[in-house]
Amino acid sequence: MPLICLGLEGTAHSFGAGIVTSEGVVLANEWDMLKPSQGGIHPREASRHHSDFGPSIISKAFETADINYRDIDLIAFSRGPGLGPCLRTTATMARTLAVKLGIPLVDVNHCVAHIEIGNLESGFDDPVTVYVSGGNTQVIAYAGGRFRTFGETLDIAIGNMLDVLGRHFGMPFPAGPIIEKEARAGRTFYSLPYSVKGMDISYSGMLTAAKRLFSEGIPIPDICFSVQETSFGMLAEIAERAIAHTKKKELLLTGGVARNNRLTEILSGVSERHEARFHRVSPSLAGDQGAMIAWNGILQYKSGHEIKISSSHVLPKWRTDEQDILWRK
Ligand code: AMP
Ligand code: MG
Repeated sequence: MPLICLGLEGTAHSFGAGIVTSEGVVLANEWDMLKPSQGGIHPREASRHHSDFGPSIISKAFETADINYRDIDLIAFSRGPGLGPCLRTTATMARTLAVKLGIPLVDVNHCVAHIEIGNLESGFDDPVTVYVSGGNTQVIAYAGGRFRTFGETLDIAIGNMLDVLGRHFGMPFPAGPIIEKEARAGRTFYSLPYSVKGMDISYSGMLTAAKRLFSEGIPIPDICFSVQETSFGMLAEIAERAIAHTKKKELLLTGGVARNNRLTEILSGVSERHEARFHRVSPSLAGDQGAMIAWNGILQYKSGHEIKISSSHVLPKWRTDEQDILWRK
């Protein structure tokens, strides 16, 4: 009999409940994203969103999967990294269900979950992963028992940079997809700070410069085009260096910003140059959702890991490379 895992995701703006089997079949993946009418994501408002909508999203997942609460064998939750109030709300729901149902609880690192759901979907074994989202921008590869961060943003995440810029233009959240559409109509490239420091990158200077172009009356499509080409070019440079050094033969693109077609095109070009296979995680599994948490819960549980309720406190600053990857040993 395959195991069935309920995974709860709630690190930031989205709450998700996914149900996945140990054979890698996604039975349900329900989620909802907080969309503030103005301003950015406030941690307290996001946690309120999770406690308001979490229970109905979980029920919906069971309906979609067409199973009963008693059919699940374990519960996994996103323990970090993320916003403290959101993590605590989500962890509380997971603990409550685990106690009520008398089943094991497994803690999952959100970033590791993004990688492994991509591996499940693509069939990749050992990729260089470009993980780009609202809160994270990292180039990661497995080495010596852990997923190592080869390069990352030194300040803001790429999705956050796009969302903040879009808000400056008056666009609603999330602005990433709107910026992608605008960029297609861009004709003139304006030079912006291209900030690559070794394997790390930085986006805050570019954000300031892009806002300045706007105040100078440069058309929005041209700014969006210039921002995309520059920020994606920076990512491509460090991803390419990671592939060249590690000699890995797979390149995986995941996270919410993986939905961007131009970024996909650029990174698939990088993989071609290095004769590596390329996969962009499909939109339903690319952003923050519960299926990836459930799948990671299964991988960990099968390798002998579960967590006691008493030590299941959340870890807002839990880094990708701080977790031993038991199932790959
Ligand atoms: P996540 O944090 O993984 O849920 O992803 C959400 C982020 O992805 C937000 O910052 C969005 O603006 C961004 N995003 C979603 N679709 C696109 C797109 N087509 N192009 C660029 N960014 C996107
Ligand atoms: Mg994420």
